[in-house]
Amino acid sequence: MKITDIKCAVIASSPVIRITTDEGITGWSQIEAPKPYIQPIVLQLKDWLVGQDPRNVERVMKRIRVRGGFKPWGSAVSAIEHALWDIAGKAANVPVYRLLGGKVRDQVRTYRTLYHHEVGVGHTPEDYVRWAEYGMALPEGFTMFKLPTSFHSSMVRDFDGFHYGEVQEDAPYPYPHKGLMSEDGFNHLVDCVAAAKDTLGSAYGLAVDAGPGYLAHDALRFAKAVEDLHLLWIEDMITGDYSPFVNPDVYRDVTHATTTPIHTGEQIYLRQNYKALIESHAVNVIGPDPCDIGGIAELKWVAEHADLHGIAMAPHGTANGIFGLAALIQMCASLPDNLIAFEYPARFEPFWYDITEGFDGVPVKNGLIDVPDRPGMGVNFIEKEARKHLSEGDADFFD
Ligand SMILES: [Mg+2]
Repeated sequence: MKITDIKCAVIASSPVIRITTDEGITGWSQIEAPKPYIQPIVLQLKDWLVGQDPRNVERVMKRIRVRGGFKPWGSAVSAIEHALWDIAGKAANVPVYRLLGGKVRDQVRTYRTLYHHEVGVGHTPEDYVRWAEYGMALPEGFTMFKLPTSFHSSMVRDFDGFHYGEVQEDAPYPYPHKGLMSEDGFNHLVDCVAAAKDTLGSAYGLAVDAGPGYLAHDALRFAKAVEDLHLLWIEDMITGDYSPFVNPDVYRDVTHATTTPIHTGEQIYLRQNYKALIESHAVNVIGPDPCDIGGIAELKWVAEHADLHGIAMAPHGTANGIFGLAALIQMCASLPDNLIAFEYPARFEPFWYDITEGFDGVPVKNGLIDVPDRPGMGVNFIEKEARKHLSEGDADFFD
């Protein structure tokens, strides 16, 4: 079998990939939204792929792996890997988890990040109570939630004097913010998180997505202040989403001085860049994204390495779309028992269920998803329906 072509279209700001072969089998995958700017990066890898046997996934990946980087620059390489596995599974007529060593669970747990704008609340303790109530009322029965807050939210702008750094009102997302928290800002943050957790009670797990932006001693002070809340983890306080570096030594100082689990890793590309983080026990939980780390096999390798070192897994995936959801399920079915849950890709529009076949609506019940047995990743475009969503420039995507 040989790859004959690779195409990339942007549907609703999410790049989707189509790899075709000389045996009529097609592989599909998707890049995290909103990343239309990755489309040309996918296409410039074509010369490395055409003519290769897509079933030899690692052999193909060796050709293109050097063409990626930390988030978002590893997403093209990562999503191509997903499409290769999709083809390999379909060619063998087995679900992808069988090619990863088989499933070790019939259901995978998924957690839900709940955004304040989705709930229609701001950043007061009363808002965080409403946030928790909204989550508990969702029909999918999620048992774990993630709360964006402090430097990972508009709390920095909404709470006057939250920190001593400059507030960038016009920044599209508050990642530019970093610095010492004010005592009032710090106390407000702790009050808000406690309000959310008190509302959820002990039946629900709560993770907090908090940075990057913390100074190390604020990170430790926050982790210690919430020790009695039994959080699932605090995420990305020092480095994280879109940081092009890791700083494991700073994480280690914080992690080893608190009982609150410390988490990072969604932006990190390739196993080599997890090495120091894992081997120095710098965090308790890592959250690689299969759409950024270099693919599902790369993530599985890191999960096994983390398990050897007593580190848990909570793979990221909030914007990975419906094909990304399929990849997360197949991969998580095969991960070791250090898996906590993966992040449900909630950020896609309902029409994706109408232009694909594989999921009969949102597949989550009681926070769990049954692992499907369809060949490959288990999701395919319904071309007739999907064509309606192509832009003029992508009109030949299905041809
Ligand atoms: Mg995060």
